[in-house]
Amino acid sequence: MKRIYLDYAATTPLHPEVLNAMLPYLTESFGNPSSIHSLGQEAKEAVGQARQKVAALIGAKSEEIVFTSGGTEADNMAIIGIALANRAKGDHIVTSSIEHHAVLEPCQWLEKQGFSITYLPVDGYGMVSPDDVKKALTARTILVSIMHANNEVGTIEPIAEIAKITREAGVYLHTDAVQTVGHIPVNVDELGVDLLSLSAHKLYGPKGIGSLYVRKGTKIAPIIHGGGQEKGYRSGTENVASIVGLAKAAELAQHEMADEIRRLSSLRDYMIEGIFSRISNVRLNGHPTIRLPGNVNISVEYIEGEAMLLNLDLAGICASTGSACSSAKLEPSHVLTAMGLTHTQAHGSLRFTMGKWTTKEEIDIVLEVLPQIVSKLRAVSPLLRGLSKR
Ligand code: PLP
Repeated sequence: MKRIYLDYAATTPLHPEVLNAMLPYLTESFGNPSSIHSLGQEAKEAVGQARQKVAALIGAKSEEIVFTSGGTEADNMAIIGIALANRAKGDHIVTSSIEHHAVLEPCQWLEKQGFSITYLPVDGYGMVSPDDVKKALTARTILVSIMHANNEVGTIEPIAEIAKITREAGVYLHTDAVQTVGHIPVNVDELGVDLLSLSAHKLYGPKGIGSLYVRKGTKIAPIIHGGGQEKGYRSGTENVASIVGLAKAAELAQHEMADEIRRLSSLRDYMIEGIFSRISNVRLNGHPTIRLPGNVNISVEYIEGEAMLLNLDLAGICASTGSACSSAKLEPSHVLTAMGLTHTQAHGSLRFTMGKWTTKEEIDIVLEVLPQIVSKLRAVSPLLRGLSKR
């Protein structure tokens, strides 16, 4: 059975051109960039060129790019690294309640070390209010960390507006742009951020590689110590092949972005309309227009997301409920509950995320299969039976 993959926000397939670019660095060009001989220098040269390409995608200078093991490490480095380097100035960090766990967990860890963290609420669309950011700042605030777009509901946050406030207050601004880099325009100067996290496997690159953009002059401490690679910001022998893969993915994304935004936004809206015209008692989660091009997140009342997911999987359709990381926990998504959804609505959520190889024909198949699954599950739903008895 040919599978229909609609979980691009969890991870993307590797672009064949990315694999081709990586292969020489997994085979004959295997040198360590720190080695003086020519094989080492070849690898060093490849890392240098890759740094320029990644910087170009986000409008940064190449010396502002630190390669990490992915989005999680980039987020940890931004938050813990800023906290450690600026403790004398302050011990307060502002973030939002809908961040990825890669931001929330280091914040919670810092709380145990004596830092104080404000978790801002969001509105019904999952939007952070710049006014709330302004009100949360104190003389002790050293960092604001708000994601560029949410991985579950796709809502795009007003980062440039928030940056005006943090700039005026002299507070660093970090954004987790793991879901946006390569998909919508991301420019560090237009956004006004000091730190930005990105991850290759969300833009058709390999897993286990990402980077943190650190604006020149930002005071940040390393969190991984050792041989002093990445100018001492991130020790460890460089993952040369993956770094080259990330750069190739960045280059491809830059060329294809405008067309992909148009194509995926229209597929997304087609799917949302299709779902609404075929299924009753369904709600769209996230902002109707200020959202990622390929994201469709819905709550289907009276049934469980997990049950829909398993039935979709049997039909060869890969989707997700909540985020890939939290879906194993069976707790309602912290993003959806922060947006004001009831636990039942949050449990009935389903996320479809489209990408480069998604076709209209595939969406048509989902639009045929999903209503059948919903009817079947609703027919045996204890929630619905409970309601009809009343
Ligand atoms: N931040 C966001 C918004 C994400 O969606 C993800 C991935 O799910 C991450 C961070 C973590 O990135 P990585 O998987 O590269 O560690």
